Amino acid sequence: MQIRQILKNPELFCEKNFVNGQFFTKSHKIIVQNPATQEAIGEVPNCGSEEVKSAIEAAQVALNSWKNFSGKERSKILRRWHDLILENLEDLAKILTAEQGKPLLEARGEIAYGASFVEWFSEEAKRSYGDTIPAPKQNQKIITFLEPIGVVAAITPWNFPSAMITRKAAAAMAAGCSVILKPSELTPFSAIALAYLAKSAGIPDGVFNVITGDAEVIGSEFCQNKIIRKISFTGSTKIGKILNSRCANDLKRISLELGGSAPFIVFADADLQKAISGLMHAKFRNGGQACTCVNRIFVEEKIHDKFVTLLVEEVQKLKLGDGFESLTQIGPMISNAAIDKVEKLVKKSIENGAKCEIGGTKIEQLFFAPTVLTNITPEMEIAQCEIFGAVAAIQKFKTEDEVINLANNTNYGLGSYLYSSDNSRIWRICEALQFGMVAINECSFATEVAPFGGIKDSGFGREGSHLGILEFSQIKTIHISF
Ligand code: NAP
Repeated sequence: MQIRQILKNPELFCEKNFVNGQFFTKSHKIIVQNPATQEAIGEVPNCGSEEVKSAIEAAQVALNSWKNFSGKERSKILRRWHDLILENLEDLAKILTAEQGKPLLEARGEIAYGASFVEWFSEEAKRSYGDTIPAPKQNQKIITFLEPIGVVAAITPWNFPSAMITRKAAAAMAAGCSVILKPSELTPFSAIALAYLAKSAGIPDGVFNVITGDAEVIGSEFCQNKIIRKISFTGSTKIGKILNSRCANDLKRISLELGGSAPFIVFADADLQKAISGLMHAKFRNGGQACTCVNRIFVEEKIHDKFVTLLVEEVQKLKLGDGFESLTQIGPMISNAAIDKVEKLVKKSIENGAKCEIGGTKIEQLFFAPTVLTNITPEMEIAQCEIFGAVAAIQKFKTEDEVINLANNTNYGLGSYLYSSDNSRIWRICEALQFGMVAINECSFATEVAPFGGIKDSGFGREGSHLGILEFSQIKTIHISF
């Protein structure tokens, strides 16, 4: 498929990098594939440390003027970026589906979700408040204000190639920072399209830059370059820990949005239909490839068999296919490594006593059949690692204490889900769950107005909400005597 031919504005599909307001290319290239067809859709520059250094220097120069723009001026420019993203939503969604594989409907949802962060932070740019502190002495005033932290490096994953960018970049730019973004080499085109629109919106040269290339090389330069004052990373816990240790030398600030192992707890007193439809969304969205996707399902023994029957009925209705086909609900997995991992996990679980109720196999190329496994035990690998695929792995429980222990028995601490109609139980469990986010009779955390983030091996820092801008700000305290 020639992507440019299906876009209203073919320039949005750009095979270049963007630094200091200029698009450029290089002879060394990375080829990008459509995971649904495994055909090459385009190529982007394979930049090395020289290009990264230039981008960092450009961002430093840009910072000097951008930080002096008033909040209102920054707000207006970000608002234009938001408006352009929405005006080009259909093209952006097509680019996203072509490189990532998710159904077009989900891609449209991601673009709108990503735009909501730009809108939110365009508003927050005007509300970056400090404090007035009652002074301990007469004739003294103490005030604080927020300053931009400086040049920010952002690193984002392939599973949400657009929204993970705006959630960081809009907050950083609203705070007055300049940004160098390294998107995943698997999904760079959504990032470059956002850069194209940033330029059209009038974001000044050097304030938003996009570099593609070898992750290790770019990441190392980000960590060791003294101009970078903050790294904002979304990705795996393994890479997050490496970046965190590399940032220690310069005491760079870092935020880490990492992996998860969300428990989904269903009590017998829950509204079962609501729990099933919540699970269908929270497990199978993006083919199970999201950090907040349900990873471990705990169903009270009394309703286990009924729950499994209802779930299997829904799972067998799911339509697998190319994201561009209108009926598709689940697209391909992102890579051979990803599908091999899920296939092995399922096989090993069955060998160890799990029962496959539906699915369980690769269908072709990168398509894995939506799967339901029962008889899962906490010792199985599938109950301990991040599955990152369309596999619902179900365990039974009998008591509240038992399920709290089971749910908390993980190093991760991002999202968690609870379905019950007993208010006292809801509050008890809500307090006992060791996770950054708890959804009760709800199946999504996706909104710009609430803080998003984890604890333990799921990282630290919060994105979205009024807290998001603080991740890119530092406090200056002024003591005045008169
Ligand atoms: P990943 O392998 O850690 O990659 C994430 C990003 O880091 C990509 O841009 C990748 O580049 C880059 N990277 C890889 N090695 C690097 C290195 N040595 N130095 C610097 N950057 C490096 O994770 P992934 O497999 O793409 O993404 C899935 C993971 O992200 C899952 O664990 C998921 O739970 C997590 N995630 C978390 C959130 C959240 O908000 N908490 C949201 C989405 C995803 P290349 O792709 O170019 O190699």
